[in-house]
Amino acid sequence: MHRVDQGTEQMIRSVLAYAENRLRMNPVPLDRGELSADEMHGRLAGVIGDRPRPPDEVLGVYTSVIAPSVISADSPRFLGFIPAAPTKAALLFDMLVSCASIQGISWLEASGAIAAENSVLRLIADEAGLPGSAGGCFVSGGSAGNLSALAVARETAKRRGATGRLRVVVGTDAHSSIVNTLRLLEMDALIVETPDHRLTAETIRAAVPESEADIAAVVCTSGTTNAGIVDDLAGVGALAKERGWWFHVDGAYGGSGMFARSLRAKYDGIEQADSFILDPHKWMFTPFDCCALLYRDPQLARATHTQDASYLDVIHTGDGEWNPSDYAYHLTRRARGLPLWFSLAVYGVDAYREAIEVAAQLARDTAELINAAPQLELIREPDLGVVLFRRIGWSAGDYDRWAQQLHSDEVAFIPPTKWEGETVGRFAFLHPDTSLELVREVLRRTE
Ligand SMILES: *Cc1c(COP(=O)(O)O)cnc(C)c1O
Repeated sequence: MHRVDQGTEQMIRSVLAYAENRLRMNPVPLDRGELSADEMHGRLAGVIGDRPRPPDEVLGVYTSVIAPSVISADSPRFLGFIPAAPTKAALLFDMLVSCASIQGISWLEASGAIAAENSVLRLIADEAGLPGSAGGCFVSGGSAGNLSALAVARETAKRRGATGRLRVVVGTDAHSSIVNTLRLLEMDALIVETPDHRLTAETIRAAVPESEADIAAVVCTSGTTNAGIVDDLAGVGALAKERGWWFHVDGAYGGSGMFARSLRAKYDGIEQADSFILDPHKWMFTPFDCCALLYRDPQLARATHTQDASYLDVIHTGDGEWNPSDYAYHLTRRARGLPLWFSLAVYGVDAYREAIEVAAQLARDTAELINAAPQLELIREPDLGVVLFRRIGWSAGDYDRWAQQLHSDEVAFIPPTKWEGETVGRFAFLHPDTSLELVREVLRRTE
């Protein structure tokens, strides 16, 4: 299994040929799962057995059964949920990180990888305006980032004397992972109703009097997953400071928007964050799975997350050394920030600013098309890359049929969403190659 024999040589050629072919595709096919669960299990049954199998045969199962049943989130036609659009450089380097088993656990084991990852975290922290002492690590995704950050918020509140069950102020449009995190951490969500879906200092002041105790933190979203709305970071950050709350900013989807000049002002106040997350696997064009997690004061994170074991003592020695394992709930980790490091270096930060801008501009252009179409209504001017719209007279079933037809025709993947209880259409733009022409075709089908 570890020797490079003739069979291995052939396998290297086959797998790399497949990978090369995929890397050269521009665009990738949208794909969709056509097999039922039973058919799928049937096709995969017995592939793993006690005896060996020719690699090309198993690769054939992958290419004929598995790959086409995975919708390509990195297709420019993928306009649902939050799309992906990894750069070619990031994809290539992700392969290298795997091939070389590059881990990023401790400075002792992986100083080079960690220093490179930290230079990317530094870039993000600088863009946000966080102090030079800020730092953190890359984790698998926004959910893991939110959990790790809010664990620090809770432990910090306790260390400052809080006892009993703690609460966290969140807006109604906070991501589902926040609610999940609070449940796991045994904290309660103090949900503030936001009349226009944007959490502001004013709404919090009205809903949460100063006398309310046991509040550990407040969470802002920049921006919301469903509609791309950036909360009032400046106001809420100042209020958090005034009340002594931890200020967490969930920028898993939209945090990267601050790199686009036309959007930067929406992020004013982010520099006050005690913790901040951003998913490069969303709007910063890396492969899955990658979330940047930053703390204003990393010392507080270490006090929460450092694992203590006699065989780990050796990694906790020198000054100036940085152990990513100390800043989140994890120990072993791949150096998942390296593909972004490579890609940023290869293309330059300006190319990122421009590519992020493209999606924001497409959202604004799409809003105009919707405003001009008599059968459509724009629900809200887009803040970032998400556009919500209503087709006058349509029921939930109409949206579903429209979306399914678009998918089966391989035109676009654009599942509807809900807005204030009503089913509506939703574009999520992220891929720089998604065209206004495609948008026109999708909208034409609502006529
Ligand atoms: C996607 C998202 C998350 C969760 O991130 P994962 O990487 O999917 O775990 C959290 N918050 C927001 C705002 C998101 O958009």
